[in-house]
Amino acid sequence: MDTFSIDKQYIANTYSRFDLNIKSGKGSLLKASDGKEYIDMGAGIATNIFGIADDKWVEAVTGQLTLIQHSSNLYYTDPCANLAEMLCEKTGMKKVFFSNSGAEANECAIKTARKWAAETKGEKYNTIVTLKNSFHGRTLATLAATGQDVFHKDFLPLTPGFVYAEANNADSVEELLKADNCAAVMIEVVQGEGGVNVLDGDFLSSLTSLAQKYNVLLITDEVQTGNGRCGELYAYMNYKIKPDIITTAKGLGGGLPIGATMFSEKTADVLTPGTHGSTFGGNPICCAGAASILERIDGELLSCVRKKSDYIKSRLTGAPGIKAISGLGLLLGVEVEADPSEYLQECMKNGLLVLKAKNKIRLTPALNIPDELLEKACDIMLNIAARK
Ligand code: PLP
Repeated sequence: MDTFSIDKQYIANTYSRFDLNIKSGKGSLLKASDGKEYIDMGAGIATNIFGIADDKWVEAVTGQLTLIQHSSNLYYTDPCANLAEMLCEKTGMKKVFFSNSGAEANECAIKTARKWAAETKGEKYNTIVTLKNSFHGRTLATLAATGQDVFHKDFLPLTPGFVYAEANNADSVEELLKADNCAAVMIEVVQGEGGVNVLDGDFLSSLTSLAQKYNVLLITDEVQTGNGRCGELYAYMNYKIKPDIITTAKGLGGGLPIGATMFSEKTADVLTPGTHGSTFGGNPICCAGAASILERIDGELLSCVRKKSDYIKSRLTGAPGIKAISGLGLLLGVEVEADPSEYLQECMKNGLLVLKAKNKIRLTPALNIPDELLEKACDIMLNIAARK
């Protein structure tokens, strides 16, 4: 049997895969088993920050692999401590908990918010306000945090303690903070899975004031938006907001599984021995790879991300067959006149891999995608859009 048939027979039926078996790649070019090469505008869903098999990342990962692959959290390791120090120095946060995915990073944030509230205000203050159309993961608590019924269906009863406010509506958040026994407000600065919707700057500022007024924590979920993707190290840094907890994953590992939950002064000492943990969290290989990624997300790279974003926007905005483009940095949502699924398939036929988010084509290329590939990708997108 070929890989397609084996996968269909033996892998749980949770993914609708495209008929493409990816074999290898370099940078922003992927090679599939059909021998064709594809320009990668998805980067493993905002994950392969420096593309496929990036030399420096490979060196960091393989170097650590020959030393020790795993030691458990009973002991100290250099990569884990170094990465935590780097994250804190770059964000001003005070402590980090490492896990393996975005959902786990959010689980940790939720647990911390509840413990913080129980200790400072009382146990009944355990509700987390999230936004409608948000996406925070697929574990039971993060599923409940996700403000989209479509993900809840079939998995009831939901984990209690989550209420949903309208995005970009401070009154709606305040109503919930007034009525419920709240511990925190949790948001994505750009709702990625929800359709690449950037939250308004004014709304974000009012969340900071509301968090102070109602003595709740502000959690920013930077799983998709973080690690340089939105033109700053973390997307909230584009605005004047100061989260009490930041969660991230995806791009941090450059393609290896890692999640991080970062705590401000206020929340740094909430978790204590035994209250949380993870067998693989802080794995030395993932941390060594992540440190090599993080040290390269500097001012120069971020300015390149913004330039590449402006380039895509300038090429696509107002072009025939393209209705609108949303997003921040290299997390972009393109509304096409064609059916987005058919448009995506057409892109694939023409050697271009793009993603979808709701009714939009989502672009999340590697942050260092070469300009000539970006130009080619835009040419393909424009040609297909104009045809429809
Ligand atoms: N939070 C956000 C904003 C995400 O976009 C995602 C995944 O797309 C998650 C959480 C869940 O991350 P993971 O799939 O690594 O658990």
